[in-house]
Amino acid sequence: MIKTDFDVLVKDTHKGRGVFATRNFQKGEVIVVGKPVKVAPERTRHSVQMKMNLHVEIDAPAKLINHSCNPNTGIKNNSFGAYDFIALVDIAEGEELSWDYETTEYISISVPQCSCNAPNCRGGLRGFSFRPIEIKNKYGEFIADYLKTLEER
Ligand SMILES: [Zn+2]
Repeated sequence: MIKTDFDVLVKDTHKGRGVFATRNFQKGEVIVVGKPVKVAPERTRHSVQMKMNLHVEIDAPAKLINHSCNPNTGIKNNSFGAYDFIALVDIAEGEELSWDYETTEYISISVPQCSCNAPNCRGGLRGFSFRPIEIKNKYGEFIADYLKTLEER
């Protein structure tokens, strides 16, 4: 179990490490602030996409938050050049945090087979480019800024 600068901790689970709330959060609260640690030369299984041609690696605990097709946090671009993780719903102490990797990745390679167990699980992630309308409708403002303006490119 690893403590962090935020009100979350990192624990080992049957599916690898996960990030868990150490207090209750209300919908809309910023739970974790992610900061970039380095620019990745190209997309990797651990990079996070910031622009069409910019992939970064982010710090812990942000980088350890697992994917879910029905997540309890959403992402928002922050001033550090990465993403904040914001409660999409009220979250109880002890709950695992998750976000939807297709809200940042134009093409997704990190979760070929999803095991999030959500009733609406998409089975495997392919990326925002494969379902832009679905992702935009589901998450509203909580998608990467560069994906909001794609049509204008
Ligand atoms: Zn899933």
